[in-house]
Amino acid sequence: MLLTITSTTPPATDLGYLLHKNPARVQSFELNFGKAHVFYTEATSERCTAALLLDVDPVHLVRGQRGGMDQYVNDRPYVASSFMSVALAQVFGSALAGQSQERPELVQLALPYQAKLAVVPCRGGEPILQRLFEPLGYTVTAQAYPLDETHPEWGMSDYFTVTLSATTRLSELLTHLYVLIPVLDTEKHYWVGDDEVAKLLRHGEGWLASHPERELIARRYLKRRHLVRAALAQLVEEDDPDPDASEEAHAQEEAEIEQRLSLHEQRLGTVLAVLKNSGARRVLDLGCGEGRLLQLLLAERAFMEIVGMDVSHRALEMASERLHLEHLPALQRDRLQLLHGALTYRDRRLAGYDAAAVVEVIEHLDAARLRAFERVLFEFARPGLVVITTPNAEYNVKFGSLPAGHLRHKDHRFEWTRAEFQTWATGRAGQFGYTVRFLPVGPEDPVVGAPTQMGVFTR
Ligand code: SAH
Repeated sequence: MLLTITSTTPPATDLGYLLHKNPARVQSFELNFGKAHVFYTEATSERCTAALLLDVDPVHLVRGQRGGMDQYVNDRPYVASSFMSVALAQVFGSALAGQSQERPELVQLALPYQAKLAVVPCRGGEPILQRLFEPLGYTVTAQAYPLDETHPEWGMSDYFTVTLSATTRLSELLTHLYVLIPVLDTEKHYWVGDDEVAKLLRHGEGWLASHPERELIARRYLKRRHLVRAALAQLVEEDDPDPDASEEAHAQEEAEIEQRLSLHEQRLGTVLAVLKNSGARRVLDLGCGEGRLLQLLLAERAFMEIVGMDVSHRALEMASERLHLEHLPALQRDRLQLLHGALTYRDRRLAGYDAAAVVEVIEHLDAARLRAFERVLFEFARPGLVVITTPNAEYNVKFGSLPAGHLRHKDHRFEWTRAEFQTWATGRAGQFGYTVRFLPVGPEDPVVGAPTQMGVFTR
């Protein structure tokens, strides 16, 4: 992973003084997770570009961890993540702190800079990049990459090459990168320490309290909830005259999150109950995600063969970790298979099962691919029982924090009303020789119904 910083203010080579790195030399630094190299790709009076290249040692990542294939297969060596932040702090420490022994007067100057990151994982994609960097005065451009070039229909990945341009002090640019690179990322931090809150507040001084996305930043930077609460409380004190009101807002936000969690549990519980009652022995979990349903299925002896399938490698890795696959006794282990595959392609491995669960998956499929999915499931895999759940769009008005007309998740391609889902499901049942009945999941409102809708297909 590579970070470059370009200055175009003559004499642009002053960048070398600001970074404390001589443009004429290549320098390497030993970090405890690998190596960092600093070099300049151009160094003229008009234009000077410094590059920080990280070479993360994958063996280090494995050492001291346990379980899961995640530790062997991951993107860490290739992307800018919290490792980049650690490297920034160690290699450009004085520049980050706004110090220059040789040219202290340069430090105060706001100059046009361009920073480029290749590549960063960004959960939430380009809109998140804009929401994070634009309020700080950056012009953001992002180049996205497809998940798999040979399968364009899988859509775009969460990886981007990002260019940020602004007229700013170099120390501010480095500070923003230091805090926001880990915020873009989905992964936990390389560092995990109780001084995280202090670190965020220190580096956030002067800009974080007034950043419109400060909550998102704190949440993603700190990850653990009690730390987030502590940080927000302090940030709010800086500029919020009514801390009680915001305490209340936080409590409400948490309640909403908790409600969502328990909704997920209710949904899985209902799916499990339907599968159990059907007497199914061999079951599919299609679009199994991180394997929460698989975990429940494994705990039930009645299910002798369980198959989880997902298009996302990352999800399968997380499932394998959640289920402690490597440490399961052979008898248990043999009941479960994880398959990598797309539900929009005919797949012989899925044929001949008693039942299939497709939980909160169809709304992730492009409408154009829905036809293919229907045939893959009902015509080719053709299980005796199919359970499909999807959000009920009518219920969205009850989620206080969801602006009208918005979908619940950025990756949802559509959300159906009850009538829309039932029309689709009844049509497919008729077409493929199934009958379907519908069940609400979650608290049912007399007008808008329940948050989740479920169709149970039998033949
Ligand atoms: N069933 C899980 C996950 C739901 S999220 C649960 O309820 O927790 C939707 C899942 O569908 C994601 O894991 C996503 O990777 C997967 N998915 C999306 N499109 C897919 C496709 N075409 N084929 C297989 N899985 C897909």
